[in-house]
This record gives sequence, C-alpha cells and structure tokens, in this order.
Amino acid sequence: MMVRRIALNGWRNYEWETFEFSPDTNVIRGRNAQGKTNLLEAVYMLAAGRSFRSRFDRELVGFGFSAAEILADVQAQGREQTVRIVLTPGRRKQITVNSVKKTASELAGTVTAVLFCPEDLAIVREGAAVRRRLLDSAISQLRPGYAAALTEYNRLYEQKSAILRDYREKPSLLYALDDFSERMCRLSARLIRYRAAFASRLDAAARPIHREFSGGADELRLSYKTVSTVENPFASEREIYYAVCEHQEAHRKAELESGQCLTGAHRDDLEIEINGKSARTFASQGQKRTAALSVKLGEREIYLQETEEYPILLLDDVLSELDARRQEFVLNRIGGGQTLITCCEDDGIAERTGGRVITVDGGRAAR
Ligand code: ATP
Ligand code: MG
Repeated sequence: MMVRRIALNGWRNYEWETFEFSPDTNVIRGRNAQGKTNLLEAVYMLAAGRSFRSRFDRELVGFGFSAAEILADVQAQGREQTVRIVLTPGRRKQITVNSVKKTASELAGTVTAVLFCPEDLAIVREGAAVRRRLLDSAISQLRPGYAAALTEYNRLYEQKSAILRDYREKPSLLYALDDFSERMCRLSARLIRYRAAFASRLDAAARPIHREFSGGADELRLSYKTVSTVENPFASEREIYYAVCEHQEAHRKAELESGQCLTGAHRDDLEIEINGKSARTFASQGQKRTAALSVKLGEREIYLQETEEYPILLLDDVLSELDARRQEFVLNRIGGGQTLITCCEDDGIAERTGGRVITVDGGRAAR
C-alpha cells in the first residue's frame, strides 16, 4: 500500500502543489505552520474519507477557495489506482476511485493508513473516549459495515440524548424514547462484536512488540470492556442484543433521572494492563509511552494480516516526542511499508531515517 503522488488544489494552505513520495520512508520537514500536518491530513483523507482533526469538511477548504481537491495515484491491492476527492462547502463530498463513485466508507477498503500523532502517546493516560476513537477509526477502515453502524449509532445517541435532556419541557418527546433505546441496543450489539474481535487481535499483535520493546521486562495486556450485562462479547449479535436490553431496562429510570444515556456501546473502553495492573493507574510515564507505541505498531500489523499489505504509516510529530531509544525502536520496526514522518527542521530526525526528505515552506514544496 502506498501513495506515489498527490496533488492538492485549494486544500488547507496548499493552493496548488504536487508531491512525489518514495515507497519507503519519507520525511516531511519544515518550520512550524508551513503545511506538514496538512499534507499528512490529505493522505489520511484518502484512507478514511475524513480528516483526523476537523469535524467539518469546510474547514479543509483553503481560505478564499470555493472547493478543495485531492488527486492521488496510489498502489493498493496490487494495482495502480487513482483516488479523487472534492470537497465543496454545502454539498456532499465527491469521492471517486478510478473514476467510479464511492462513499467515504467504501474508500476504506481501497487505501489504508495508520495515523500516529502526539495525542496517541496519551492513549494509556487519557479517558476511555480516546481509546474508543482508536478502536473506531481502525475498525472503520477495515470493515465498511462498522463505519456505517457507528455513524447510525452516533446519530441515535444524539437524538436520544436530546430527548433525555428536553423531555421535562416537552413531555411528548418521551413517546419516541423506547424506540430509540431499542435501536441503540441493536446497534450496540453489532458494534460490541466488532470491537471485541478487534481488541483481541490487537492484544495478540501488540503483546510481542511490547515484550521486545521492554526487553522482556513487562507484559502488556489489552482487554475490551463493555456493557456490564454482556458476559460474552463474542456471542451472537442476538445474544448480545438481549444482554444489552437487560441493562437498558434496569437503567431506564436512572436515564430519565440523570438525563443521560447510560446504556450502550458509547461507554466502552479498552483496558490496558502492564504486568496484571492497570497501566493508567500504576505505570510510569515511560511505561505508558512504550505501551502506547506497542498498541499503534500492533494496529499496523493487523492491517498487514487483513489486507496482506502494510498500511501507510503517518507519524505526525511523534518521533520528536520520543527519547533516542524509543525513536530507534520505532524506526527499526517500520520497515516493509511506506511511512510519512513529519518533523521540525533541525531535530536531526531526517538524517537518521535515511528516507527521502521533502521540505515544505508556506504551502509549497521547496525544490
Ligand atoms: P507544526 O510544525 O506547528 O505542526 P505544520 O507544518 O504541521 O506546523 P499545519 O498544521 O500543516 O502546520 O498548518 C499550516 C498552516 O495551514 C497553518 O498556519 C494554518 O493556519 C493553515 N491553515 C489551516 N487550515 C487552513 C485553511 N482551510 N486554509 C488555509 N490555510 C489553512
Ligand atoms: Mg504539524
């Protein structure tokens, strides 16, 4: 999996620019605010159909432009493909692969990318939302059905939350409550099965990496936590559905009293343990980082197992956050696939990777 060439037109601070990438390591270098992350964001867009830092596509369109366009030649599934994405504020985004129309979730099957940014180093320390996001973005790319279910779930969640928030002023809203709860239980069951399967694969993939990383000293364990009445998250969707419904019924009154959705997959977590103890509570800063790196590198291995190619690895400002030993470990681990690394001009990282250096300056490639 690799992106060979990308052309950006009215994308963020790129008016009109093209970049050619090496199939191996590429270092994108430049001063602050020149467009390094914007370039990575465009590559991520090819895989996910959305940005990793903006919720609204209109923010991606360059100031003063009426539309943003990304045109990329990629090698995916063993053949050359052309992906084109056009964002026009107020209209649906247009995505084509080899001139054939696709939806954002269908794009997921074409190009795959794993993004690693400084916030990912905090996946152990932060709250459950960050870890759910990691699960969601990874599974969405690998399973188009998941992305669709998640979108629908989030929509129901917003609506049910609004009912629980406003029913005191507008009691008629309550008529729809049970229907929303039931549909959320149904979708929770679907999300739970996908997440349980992915979490167990991630556990298997990250563990050996972590063992190597910590010199055999520490044992990592990832486990999936979901609605408490679900005893077996690998059971059939139907069985999980009934278990979630049971939880829902037991919490209906509490939901009305608290005005919040208390049942469903939106409260899931991925528990991270080191040597049998909660890493969030007990691990040192360094151990937390090592665990986070192992989880992200494990994610990359799962893509390889699934698609038989490494995903494009996007490292945004991550290496500069690590000490020399951890940098070395990451650089030694990323062979075999294409990597795009952003870094500052003078931190010496570019020289150490031996990769192609691309310098960006004010939304232009310096030539
Ligand atoms: P850093 O080293 O600080 O991470 P960077 O090179 O990664 O910097 P980017 O995040 O890529 O910087 O942003 C470069 C510039 O793009 C910023 O100055 C930002 O104001 C600008 N920018 C962001 N969105 C748009 C947009 N929609 N139109 C035009 N410019 C934009
Ligand atoms: Mg940046």
